[in-house]
Amino acid sequence: MDRDRLIIVVSGPGGVGKGTIVDALVQRDPDLWLSRSWTTRVRRPGESEDAYVFTSPEAFEERITAGGFLEWTEFLGNYYGTPRPDQLDGAGAPDIVLEIELDGAQQVKRRYPQAILIFVLPPSREEQERRLRGRGDPGDKVLARLRKAETEEPIGRDQADYLVVNDDLDRTVDEMMTIIARERCR
Ligand code: 5GP
Repeated sequence: MDRDRLIIVVSGPGGVGKGTIVDALVQRDPDLWLSRSWTTRVRRPGESEDAYVFTSPEAFEERITAGGFLEWTEFLGNYYGTPRPDQLDGAGAPDIVLEIELDGAQQVKRRYPQAILIFVLPPSREEQERRLRGRGDPGDKVLARLRKAETEEPIGRDQADYLVVNDDLDRTVDEMMTIIARERCR
């Protein structure tokens, strides 16, 4: 490969559709590799077993101590983390996609300033709430995620290299493919 590996960080408030977007991106583009995070959150009903490495707080903390995460954070009472860079370096495809929240995105940016931060916005708060409720989280969790979104959004808008409004999945994925193609040409 005669260009640098891209690190594409996709972030944005809960219920914005990041997971669906990154799945569509890696399906469309074989040069993209999606990192699989660890979490201590319990699996949602119907959520795929390999959406995360679902693990215990003890195992997660052991891995923190061993320096096994590129970044990690606590988000609404659970740990989430990206396994270390040797995995990134050894990834099969040239370019890497991380789907993580904003604190983790900032950690990645500090470590890899060339990383590209794409912050995804919902078309409206109402639509975001509808999507959050639709995935079966209990009501208090939905409210906590909406509150978190309100604090994350201004920071995300400020720090992002690109802002994308997810009003239509295909259009959003097209827009992100255009961004990635442009970054590959730099
Ligand atoms: P969820 O519980 O809805 O799957 O994820 C909650 C939040 O954690 C989402 O914003 C998601 O992007 C983020 N997240 C998922 N994996 C990671 C990770 O490895 N690191 C960080 N910092 N955030 C993550």
